[in-house]
Amino acid sequence: MRALMQDWSLTLDKILDHAARWHGEREIVTRSVEGPLVRSDYARLKQRAKQVSHGLLEMGVRPGDRIATLGWNSDRHLETWYGTIGVGAVLHTLNPRLFPEQLVYIANHAGDTVLFADPACAALLEEILPQCPTIRRVIFLSAEAPATSFPADAYEPWLADRPQDTPWGGFDESSAAGLCYTSGTTGNPKGVLYGHRSNYIHAMMTLQPDALNLSARDTVLLSVPMYHANAWGVMYSAPLVGAKLVLPGQKLDGASLHELMETEGVTYSAGVPTLWQMLLAHLKETNGRLTTLQRATVGGSACPESIIRTLHDDYGVDVIQGWGMTETSPLATISIPKRPGLSFEEALPGKLKQGRLVGNLDLKLVDDEGRRLPHDGKTFGRLMIKGPTVASGYYGSPHNSAVDDEGFFDTGDVAAIDEHGDMQITDRAKDVIKSGGEWISSIDVENIAVGHPKAALCAVLGVVHPKWDERPVLLVQLEPGAAAEKQEFLDFLDGKIARWWMPDDVIFVDEIPIGATGKIDKKKLRERLTGYQLPFDPNLKR
Ligand code: ADP
Repeated sequence: MRALMQDWSLTLDKILDHAARWHGEREIVTRSVEGPLVRSDYARLKQRAKQVSHGLLEMGVRPGDRIATLGWNSDRHLETWYGTIGVGAVLHTLNPRLFPEQLVYIANHAGDTVLFADPACAALLEEILPQCPTIRRVIFLSAEAPATSFPADAYEPWLADRPQDTPWGGFDESSAAGLCYTSGTTGNPKGVLYGHRSNYIHAMMTLQPDALNLSARDTVLLSVPMYHANAWGVMYSAPLVGAKLVLPGQKLDGASLHELMETEGVTYSAGVPTLWQMLLAHLKETNGRLTTLQRATVGGSACPESIIRTLHDDYGVDVIQGWGMTETSPLATISIPKRPGLSFEEALPGKLKQGRLVGNLDLKLVDDEGRRLPHDGKTFGRLMIKGPTVASGYYGSPHNSAVDDEGFFDTGDVAAIDEHGDMQITDRAKDVIKSGGEWISSIDVENIAVGHPKAALCAVLGVVHPKWDERPVLLVQLEPGAAAEKQEFLDFLDGKIARWWMPDDVIFVDEIPIGATGKIDKKKLRERLTGYQLPFDPNLKR
């Protein structure tokens, strides 16, 4: 028997329809490429996104065509986002911080046809466009196009005077809406193809109180770039509830973010740990305050205790750790306690874990043969995930399923899950250090080490060892102007980790490299350590 409820397919254009009609005056504030803050709102976003749709259809864009963007978080970028998906085309967000050869590979693999780009990317485009034959039109997200050797339009004149009534929707809710490539830390980048329905469900899942808990009263600073893992879903969740949006453009340094937080009354923000570390360093240096920020989601990498504690103790901000990946839309677990009334200290151990599932997802742990492992908080294994917001395969490999016989996707992470369902990531499978037949979590050691007052960033790598297979080495980037002895760091770790987890060496480096999505780039660090030898007698040490 069919239900007698209205047919109402879950397509994402409806989210902006809703925001424009019921939260039309709620602001969208951008730090523009031209410099000053620009104020828009949801009603204007819809009008201009409709104009983008008109322009795309005029160019002959058809449903399913890939429309690429290459730029930072801005109102114009968001207009192209909704203008594209509204007519059933697929929005492919390219990451301007990737190497040119990676961008060429990704744009060709995706078969992008039209490209909207920040003018700051003009030089990069000179390099890559000759190698991207499918891109037939370039539009710079600015009032005037920079001088280039290739033909290009400027967004504002291209948009001006276009009608604002291009129809949206009318396609199946399982149609593709967005394409986002993983950064390819192993092998080539892989395309994750989101659907209207999957993103709609993800937005509703993440809005729960036991998730991001956004509301019409929130002002959201989206420091996560729009090209990183589906912008953590915020481009859908914020308009769905009518939250004010603040888009920081290209300036993600501590001073610029702090200024926006204070002038715009930001109540909620989300970002990777390195971004919060930069903000905290700036606040410490300038004696700055956070007078409106209430909640912060930290994810993308494990969140060090020092970030959670400092934001809470010194600035009154509640940190929620989130775990997910490009393939999970991305938010999948969140570190919010189940028990009421916990003090900060009581809640802290839970906040350091990646937490419990959001919404209707499922997790399991398996060994290398795919056999299920117990959820006892001690046994760790490969983390597998399943649900309506999880990828089933990758773009361009339709016959190559990414899931096992039970429909679970292999995350590539190693984790433990306790009897209450709280998950804790041990490491990425490729980063975990195998020492004497047992595993050392590089994440645990680096997140404790970075709590040392002289440390700016820390990373732990496994180095080949003739007796123990691998031993950990701690790399430290010190705070500007600080000097330290190796022993200070070993003393700091002493008693906080098992003795055999103790790094065999501490190496001070000028800079710990940060990758294209703001995470510590271990691949590059590993390259820099080529030829490095452990300092101690390899037979004695463990
Ligand atoms: P990339 O592989 O380029 O970093 P993603 O942004 O999709 O691409 O990264 C997903 C991975 O990031 C996860 O598989 C996990 O290893 C790591 N990750 C994300 N959030 C957390 C977290 N809170 N704690 C530990 N690791 C995390």
